[in-house]
Amino acid sequence: MNALPPPARRLLGNSDIAISPLAWGMWRLAENGRSAGDAARLAHGALEAGITLFDTADIYGFDGTAGFGDAEALLGEVLASEPGLRARMVLATKGGICPPLPYDQSPAYLASAIDASLRRLNVECIDLYQIHRPDILAHPQEVARTLENALAAGKVRALGVSNFTIQQIEALNHFLDHALVATQPEISPLRIARFENGELDQAMHLGLTPLAWSPLGGGRLLSPETPRERAVAAALDRIAEDQGVSRSVAAYGWLMAHPAGIVPIIGSQNAQRIAEGAQALGMRWTREDWYGVLVAARGEKLP
Ligand code: NAP
Repeated sequence: MNALPPPARRLLGNSDIAISPLAWGMWRLAENGRSAGDAARLAHGALEAGITLFDTADIYGFDGTAGFGDAEALLGEVLASEPGLRARMVLATKGGICPPLPYDQSPAYLASAIDASLRRLNVECIDLYQIHRPDILAHPQEVARTLENALAAGKVRALGVSNFTIQQIEALNHFLDHALVATQPEISPLRIARFENGELDQAMHLGLTPLAWSPLGGGRLLSPETPRERAVAAALDRIAEDQGVSRSVAAYGWLMAHPAGIVPIIGSQNAQRIAEGAQALGMRWTREDWYGVLVAARGEKLP
């Protein structure tokens, strides 16, 4: 298993967009009053570590009352002051969650959300536009039409979804002329449902790149509390120690060993930890080691 090192670059789904095997996520970018200068340093840190896929969303920064668009706007400030950075990154964002409503993917709202993201980010084109969470009240044909219009207008280059079920992906894809290239579910050694519920099999079937959100369980893997969390951490630590890496790197490596080509989205906003993630590329997994982590996460033996 994984006898050869994973490729340093790969394509995003069936598109011609080259991406790095790890991504950097900006959910937490606009927290703690981070300045554009500090955000720029983080972006440079990620790029220098070989991470080119940058993931954000229009809702990142929203704290329940204010802050909608803040993470995009902060990255937009960085890009405005250093326009050369844009060409070095594959820029992914998301829309379709619209506070105070839960979800809105009506044609008028979704089209306006795409335009607003472009404005905040200070870019002419988004490389990967993802529907953040499905709007049950939007017909997939309507959603597809809005997304196709954005593609045709050159506002977005490729399409993805996040938190969609297998059936929701099928339905949206059915109405798209330009099929989805990515799906973004939560996957981590603490969230293992996707390995057996068919979502990753669908990704392989359709050629979607799975982008794993919260690959460290939102940080819980680093401060495990329950017996199950501690068992998963211990299983990762055994391999991490053998291979001279940290627990978080072992978690990324564990996800990357899956044949679907999972791209973990590093959530850290610490330059050193972001850079450290790249060590996951050098990890090697035997089936025994890989299943050892899975068994710890299942909390029971495999049948
Ligand atoms: P995560 O990697 O699971 O957790 C990151 C958190 O762990 C940060 O607060 C980080 O703090 C902390 N951490 C503690 N020790 C760490 C270590 N040694 N190495 C790395 N991190 C450590 O990811 P996440 O932030 O929850 O999510 C990652 C990305 O997934 C987001 O930025 C976003 O792009 C995406 N996401 C998508 C959805 C969706 O619905 N599509 C939902 C959630 C997230 P420090 O910053 O201090 O290192």
